[in-house]
Amino acid sequence: MELIYILTYDCNFRCKYCDVYKHKNSISQEIINQSLLFLEQNNFIIEKVKFFGGEPLLKKKFIKDIIKNFPKKYNPNFYITTNTTLVDENFIIFSKENNINLTFSIDWDLDILWENRILENWFNSWELIIKNTKKYADFVRVNQVITSKNSKTFFKNFKFIYDLWVRKFNFLPAYYEEWSKEWFINLKNWFEEVFNFYKSWNHFKLVNLENYSDVSFFNLWLVIDTDGIIYWTNLILSWKFEMYKNQLKIGDIFNWLKFDFNDHIFVESYLILIWDILKKEYTSLVLKSVKYVDLILNNFCDDFYKTYWVKYMKSLQ
Ligand code: SF4
Repeated sequence: MELIYILTYDCNFRCKYCDVYKHKNSISQEIINQSLLFLEQNNFIIEKVKFFGGEPLLKKKFIKDIIKNFPKKYNPNFYITTNTTLVDENFIIFSKENNINLTFSIDWDLDILWENRILENWFNSWELIIKNTKKYADFVRVNQVITSKNSKTFFKNFKFIYDLWVRKFNFLPAYYEEWSKEWFINLKNWFEEVFNFYKSWNHFKLVNLENYSDVSFFNLWLVIDTDGIIYWTNLILSWKFEMYKNQLKIGDIFNWLKFDFNDHIFVESYLILIWDILKKEYTSLVLKSVKYVDLILNNFCDDFYKTYWVKYMKSLQ
């Protein structure tokens, strides 16, 4: 099972495609202490702990606190995805010492940054992102965000990141937006280009292979919100889901869980609830787009996986 801590709804960026409901609410020391007690008193099977925001590195101290004091009986892997601007040497050392999987989420070239990422002093931030990516390329993973609009420069951006010596890629096409036929074709063609690049003995790891999900639209994870309320989906981060939080709540860290998520009836009714909300909040064209985007990504992952084994077997000969 995966556990998500939502550390803050704040971010130093305002990306156009981001639907996180931005406000100043952040987790507190009291919520962290109580959450650790809650986890200690339960016997979940937690394999991965992920820190979400907003920008999680706005709360570095809390990340360190949670990792240092996480109940020993679990021994999970920790994951952080950041926009990279708040990374410093200290945090990299801490991440290495604690085997944290640190992901830089970037969409790359300057035109694209200009198009998508809205931030104060954007030019300095762009330079900082490049500097940090180059400096820590051998350690970090990169989430390459591919929106419908930047699908036309997908391969160029990939190559730009690869040439900085990044070798662990997670491709993240933007879900929940409407894609046109032309954008789908771009996406498919450029995935083919990335695949051909990999086949011709260029090496990189595809992180997407670690993130299999039964449902393409969302994941079911145990989510601890900044106020200690527990949900079973991280869709609650979106402003579209803000008004449904009461319905989606499954408990809180002070009073235990209201539902048993191993109970099939609960699981089914929770899934129906999420689907009903998705259908209310997104057009059918957006929901259809998600399916196609996911299909293109899945086909790429399948091909990549098969080729990975062929290359691996050949390397043994
Ligand atoms: S950096 Fe991430 S959390 Fe912040 S606005 Fe951009 S996509 Fe959203």
